[in-house]
Amino acid sequence: MCGILGYIGNREAYPILIKGLHRLEYRGYDSAGIALINRENSKLNIYKTKGRVSDLEEFTKGKDISGTVGIAHTRWATHGEPNHINAHPHYSQSENLALIHNGIIENYAVLKESLIRKGYVFQSETDTEVLVQLIEYIKTDNNTDISTAIQLALKQVIGAYAIAVVEKENPDLIIAARKSSPLVVGIGQDEFFLASDASPIIEYTNQVIYLNDEEIALIHRNEQLRIINLSNVEKTPQITLLEMSLNELEKGGYPHFMLKEIFEQPRTLRDCMSGRLNTGNGRVVLSGIIDHREKFINARRIIILACGTSWHAGLIGEYLFEEFCRIPVEVEYSSEFRYRRPVIYPDDVVIAVSQSGETADTLAAIELAKQAGAFVYGICNVVGSSIARNTDSGSYTHVGPEIGVASTKAFTAQVAVLTMMALNIAREKKTISEQQYLALLSELSGIPGKIETILQQNRYIEDLSKIFTYAHNFIYLGRGYSYPVAVEGALKLKEISYIHAEGYPAAEMKHGPIALIDNEMPVVVIAINSTTYDKMTSNIQEIKARKGRILAIVNKSDCKVREMADYTIEIPDTEECLSPLLSIVPLQLLSYHIAVKKGRDVDMPRNLAKSVTVE
Ligand code: GLU
Repeated sequence: MCGILGYIGNREAYPILIKGLHRLEYRGYDSAGIALINRENSKLNIYKTKGRVSDLEEFTKGKDISGTVGIAHTRWATHGEPNHINAHPHYSQSENLALIHNGIIENYAVLKESLIRKGYVFQSETDTEVLVQLIEYIKTDNNTDISTAIQLALKQVIGAYAIAVVEKENPDLIIAARKSSPLVVGIGQDEFFLASDASPIIEYTNQVIYLNDEEIALIHRNEQLRIINLSNVEKTPQITLLEMSLNELEKGGYPHFMLKEIFEQPRTLRDCMSGRLNTGNGRVVLSGIIDHREKFINARRIIILACGTSWHAGLIGEYLFEEFCRIPVEVEYSSEFRYRRPVIYPDDVVIAVSQSGETADTLAAIELAKQAGAFVYGICNVVGSSIARNTDSGSYTHVGPEIGVASTKAFTAQVAVLTMMALNIAREKKTISEQQYLALLSELSGIPGKIETILQQNRYIEDLSKIFTYAHNFIYLGRGYSYPVAVEGALKLKEISYIHAEGYPAAEMKHGPIALIDNEMPVVVIAINSTTYDKMTSNIQEIKARKGRILAIVNKSDCKVREMADYTIEIPDTEECLSPLLSIVPLQLLSYHIAVKKGRDVDMPRNLAKSVTVE
């Protein structure tokens, strides 16, 4: 996944790049590195180390960190273990070039073999080093300039890349290129910034250019930015104005971004629904749907493509679209969908869900759907992201930057968007009564306020979490709309506390997981008012009979389950189809507090990274 950065201008590059690396650290934190060119002594210095950006800062103490041009990297390893040798930037053989990379060079082995035969010696096990050696080889062999060498090299490459290259003898130039991995160029006053996303750029300029696939940016000091493609065709840079604010990138007094983001949910949901949900005139207005009304009304089927937490939001979408719009829905893991031969009809509507809008597998699955002629709708959070640009239409979730690796506010907003879509389409199709439609609209608009009351129980949930830190395993159970919540709750716990947890449809328990239950096993049941409430109470009895320790999420009005459970957390009453927006919140808090009690690095859990831009 990796974060890549660059700076060229009149200021010292090091502090800008280090600050930017901290912003991008959510993308990977196996190692960090920086390359700086000092124009005075024509030196290209690379410093890199295993670990976090703070380790890099420690490592560079007392070293020559001067230079007004530089590139920097924070790594999520794909090829080669996370050590300092595999850390980026990588030198070319002559040490004249330095390169950073986000992505995977799939044909690296073949390229590497041929370069070894030509006398190139490799230092690292990465796929990335092949690229810098190949560029150097082409440059020398063809006696050409660096930008032509990069064009020719990239034509030989199969895979995904966002790269930045600097050349020792050319301290006034950074060259960057992308294919399937994100890259943004920031345009300042006599200076340029380069980053995997806009978060490191926003404090210097709000003017950015999102590079497209197979485009190369030639970033010369004190010159106009030039963009060319691999075939040397000049492109006109399209400037976008950023709307992000700096406060959104700070913790704002919270100990972790994750806790801040959990607490932001009442506001982020209001932002997500504002201007779209109008209880006054009884309308849901999603322009992405209104502009393509016929596509939705005539959809033979809806296919939801997503990964991870977004896939869980997609499951809730399935229940909503089938219940209210009477359209059959399939929810697919993008990574599975793209590699089988899925049946896609031109009158299918495909909905791609991704927080970052850069999820590599989802992007590839979108291409497949487009080739089959389906209409593709994107739900993502990052404005200007690849999914936003590569879909026919869509809705942003508008929750601001989500920095905690475990997704929270993006999930609830994805569910809110799917709910608004289902209501909008159902009304257009007349598959919902006006009365039910209006009742749901009004209930949905009250959800942020209800989340506020759940958040007031934070202390209580924190106390409860102490009871469970002993556990090595958890089971989460739910039925109907609560089943995706069970799976998402279990994922939250796994991600940040490293406790094994399984989310299951409660009735499926009998077909296997019940064998795991003993008096050590915490079982979280989401037992809210629903059409399957009585069935759920029977499932709880089955757990009790096997002495499982039950933590139940119940409605305020509940009497029955609270009698049976060992512990309960209350949520306000709401419509069943909207209950995931409430019931997930205590589970987010529970995971958070258990992880904190276990001393885990909540915002940067091991082995994970936020934006999965490699497949
Ligand atoms: N493939 C490169 C490496 O392992 C970059 C990884 C990435 O972008 O996640 O170093």
